[in-house]
Amino acid sequence: MELLVILFFFGMSAGAVAKIKGSSFVLWFLIGFCLPFFGTLAALLTRNERGVDVRACEECGNVVPIHDQVCRRCGRDLDYAPSG
Ligand SMILES: [Zn+2]
Repeated sequence: MELLVILFFFGMSAGAVAKIKGSSFVLWFLIGFCLPFFGTLAALLTRNERGVDVRACEECGNVVPIHDQVCRRCGRDLDYAPSG
């Protein structure tokens, strides 16, 4: 039972990392679950599939690259927010 809990958390960590990078949470959850530690490590080493981090414009909801300081759709000034 404890093993299942540990595997579950490995799956969660791999899935969470993958989701941040734009990959499938479920896919990487399963990888982390089947390959504890290595799955999480692989997720960490995987390239960000979105290329760059993005965030939603506060004004119009447009998704813009995180390094953009002005929304391309509505022109709103965007504060730099690394955490998204
Ligand atoms: Zn906007």
